[in-house]
Amino acid sequence: MSDNLQIVTIDGPSGVGKSTVSRKLAALLDFTYLDTGAMYRAVAYGCKQAGVQVEDEAAVESLLLEMKIDLLPPASPGDDVRVVLDDKEIGPLLRTPEMGMLASKVSALAVVRRKLTLMQQAMGKAGKLVAEGRDTGTVVFPQAAWKFYLDASSEERARRRVDQLRGRGEEVVEVEVLAQLIQRDRDDSERTIAPLKAAADAIRINSDNLNADEVVAKMLTEVEREQG
Ligand code: C5P
Repeated sequence: MSDNLQIVTIDGPSGVGKSTVSRKLAALLDFTYLDTGAMYRAVAYGCKQAGVQVEDEAAVESLLLEMKIDLLPPASPGDDVRVVLDDKEIGPLLRTPEMGMLASKVSALAVVRRKLTLMQQAMGKAGKLVAEGRDTGTVVFPQAAWKFYLDASSEERARRRVDQLRGRGEEVVEVEVLAQLIQRDRDDSERTIAPLKAAADAIRINSDNLNADEVVAKMLTEVEREQG
């Protein structure tokens, strides 16, 4: 392996399966899993709770000064990372389409990105991290040893998201999920700061015809080759 930090970055559009894959890979490598999307969702949730409009950068900035976000390891292996906002666990409230759209809006604000990027970099200081998001390979950890960009068609991603939401007992309309996903991809890719894109040195994996375990196996091969 090179002198680069022992960090794996996994970026890609919404609904591509980054969280599932990252969690599994982190467990296999015995690395910490960092869900950067959960941090943006937590800020969005905090804004909603405080009645702050996410378009109002000055109001979001002052709210951020008081906000305390912590990410704690999962309660048991394979569970989600626990997201704690002002000492209250809010993780289960964040994985909704509404929070996804709101998170996409707050994530375009420079003041939000600055704060969260610094927090993420602090968590990466010790290495041994699997970080997933939109800009982990391009902006947060450009020196990461292993970078992946995970992609799949929007139809396949919408189908998976619908299955996931219905599995949780939610009623959803597939065309609406697809429209939201396309909108969020567009917003994330076209924003000025840290837009969604593959790092030039990222390994691209298309998961249209691969399940999560097959994607993880591909990633593991790459990591082990470089470690070898
Ligand atoms: O990955 P997840 O769907 O939880 O991310 C929610 C939103 O947070 C994304 O649509 C994106 O706008 C934002 N995000 C980001 N940069 C990251 C992770 C997430 O801008 N590294």
